[in-house]
Amino acid sequence: MADPFKLLVLPGDGIGPEVVGAALRVFERVCARASIAIEVSHDLLHGAAWEKYGCFCRDETVAEAKRSNAVLVGAVGGPQWDDIVGDGSTPAERDGLMRLREELDTYACLRPSRAYPALLGQTPFRAEVVAGADVLVLRELCGGLPYGEPRGIDRLEDGSLQAYDANFYTSDEIRRFARVGFELARRRRGKVTSLDKSNVMHSGILWRRIVNEVGEEYPDIELEHLYADNGLFQLMQRPTGFDLVLADNIFGDLASDLVATYAGSLGMLPSASLQGIDPVNTAIYEPVHGTAPDLAGRGIANPIGTILSIALMFDHSLARPDLAREIESAVETCLQDGVLSADLGGKSTTEEVCAAILSALDEGSK
Ligand code: NAD
Ligand code: MN
Repeated sequence: MADPFKLLVLPGDGIGPEVVGAALRVFERVCARASIAIEVSHDLLHGAAWEKYGCFCRDETVAEAKRSNAVLVGAVGGPQWDDIVGDGSTPAERDGLMRLREELDTYACLRPSRAYPALLGQTPFRAEVVAGADVLVLRELCGGLPYGEPRGIDRLEDGSLQAYDANFYTSDEIRRFARVGFELARRRRGKVTSLDKSNVMHSGILWRRIVNEVGEEYPDIELEHLYADNGLFQLMQRPTGFDLVLADNIFGDLASDLVATYAGSLGMLPSASLQGIDPVNTAIYEPVHGTAPDLAGRGIANPIGTILSIALMFDHSLARPDLAREIESAVETCLQDGVLSADLGGKSTTEEVCAAILSALDEGSK
């Protein structure tokens, strides 16, 4: 028998445990039906870990993550843990999830978003503009501005302050990342749109040069370059004109939040963070939203972003796109049947949404 698929579950803080609980039920149901052997372990991350261990992400958690095929994270953070570690700290010291991403070197962050027919009225767009939109923003996650040194706020001789950040990218970092983008585009509709500011940034000049070089290895993929500002404008103006958007850490951050509007709610959005594809090493799957302290403990959070993250896990860590599509279509059925959580204008609880998706899965497999 094949080794079991090892999943480490880190529910995190706020609504994290609620949405992860729902997603795990979907994961276990699909695996049971498809006879996929699994081994699930649980641990604490960030605030929850701080309260028990006085540390946002323990070495033991990192080691367990590295032994696992995939890590499912809820969301982390809350104001009570924001100022515990001082200003001079690194992202990994301030945030358990940042440490995990750094340790696993998950440099390719997939943030797909699409317009759901049942939710067009929840978007800020006219239905005919956004209907059919289906975009994957691929964001570089381990380099660029958030990590660049030197950085800081210095006092100048005249007493005023000067702040600076640096956007470092090596050709190797861009190349490995761009390859993931072209490979993923091949499994989609075959088009890559790369964002940069090569008109004003040297990091953008190198970005465009390397993306072009990688593009030559993929003659079957259509490649277009847009200046990032114009790219974001176009993503608003004609959402259906894009397939895969390739961007560095900062432009990818902006683009992924922008395309999130297509889906109708932050609660709908999944993500995957990979260290390359073929083979996929340990990958992190998590909803895009945060811990929603205003909803925590009330049982009304939308679990769909986390459930769709499980679908991404079937795509990229289990190589079972057939099961990923089954989960996505069960989600569509749930929406069409009007089982909607509060963020989607409905009254259904987390539990009711989960139950509707499980029953659509059971129906679909009959
Ligand atoms: P948030 O995503 O938690 O909430 C933003 C808004 O969206 C809130 O009104 C919330 O109620 C709503 N919302 C979010 N998820 C929802 C869901 N599943 N169902 C229904 N409604 C949902 O963002 P925020 O308020 O800016 O941040 C809250 C905390 O989460 C902060 O501590 C922040 O640092 C943290 N955070 C964590 C992550 C992460 O772990 N990846 C991401 C973003 C924010
Ligand atoms: Mn962001």
